[in-house]
Amino acid sequence: MTDAVDLLVLGGGMAGLAAAARAAQDGATVVLAEKAPRTGGSAEYAGFIWTAPTLEVMRNINPDGDPALAERLVDGFPAAVEWVRSLGVDAKEPVTVLGYGRGRQTDMPQLLSTCERIVRDSEGCELLLGAESERLIVQDGRVCGAEIRTSSGELRTIDARFTLLATGGFGGDAELRAQLIHPLASAPRTPGSTAISFRPGWPPRTFTSYGS
Ligand SMILES: Cc1cc2nc3c(=O)[nH]c(=O)nc-3n(C[C@H](O)[C@H](O)[C@H](O)COP(=O)(O)OP(=O)(O)OC[C@H]3O[C@@H](n4cnc5c(N)ncnc54)[C@H](O)[C@@H]3O)c2cc1C
Repeated sequence: MTDAVDLLVLGGGMAGLAAAARAAQDGATVVLAEKAPRTGGSAEYAGFIWTAPTLEVMRNINPDGDPALAERLVDGFPAAVEWVRSLGVDAKEPVTVLGYGRGRQTDMPQLLSTCERIVRDSEGCELLLGAESERLIVQDGRVCGAEIRTSSGELRTIDARFTLLATGGFGGDAELRAQLIHPLASAPRTPGSTAISFRPGWPPRTFTSYGS
């Protein structure tokens, strides 16, 4: 079966859910494919929406990070908080986080479920659970969708104008963990972080460190 949508989101953690919900609100047709039986990813352990308070602090903490992404994150933070509040989700007054950051304690389960509901309820949008993306479709050097193994075992091809890789990190992959962190690094609480986007056939990734 082949579909064509504006946006295909691979991974239904906080990043994928927020992007899918926002695009759906803006009228885009969206398919969000999450391989786990439920959405949320590692955000189910998180309590704060936060980042560095200024670009200078961000550069000091994370000198190898992508400058454009850093700017987007720091400068976009107030608008992101406004958007979360516009969904009716509680985001409390700013406090210091991990010694250098500024953040707001946020009702994360409510935020996750609200984003999920927006995707489910928006016309032309679809949420697929238990649906693992297996391969990106690349034509003329451009990613234009992916093949998804649905929960029923069907291989579904989804063509999309834009494809967002939001499949999280590599912590659940023992080999990459040993190679990129430390041979004794322990497995994360999120076994779903199996690094699909690091495998052959997927676009190159840049690493940004999370603190030190
Ligand atoms: C204990 C703990 C506390 C934290 N506290 C905070 C906090 O207070 N504030 C904060 O900002 N951050 C916090 N973090 C970090 C934050 O939770 C993560 O950075 C964030 O949730 C990552 O979201 P993500 O969507 O990028 O990735 P993930 O949450 O990893 O989501 C990726 C999703 O993609 C799915 N997936 C993977 N491969 C595929 C595939 N092939 N096809 C389809 N789906 C796939 C996975 O199942 C998963 O659901 C915390 C992390 C932990 C572990």
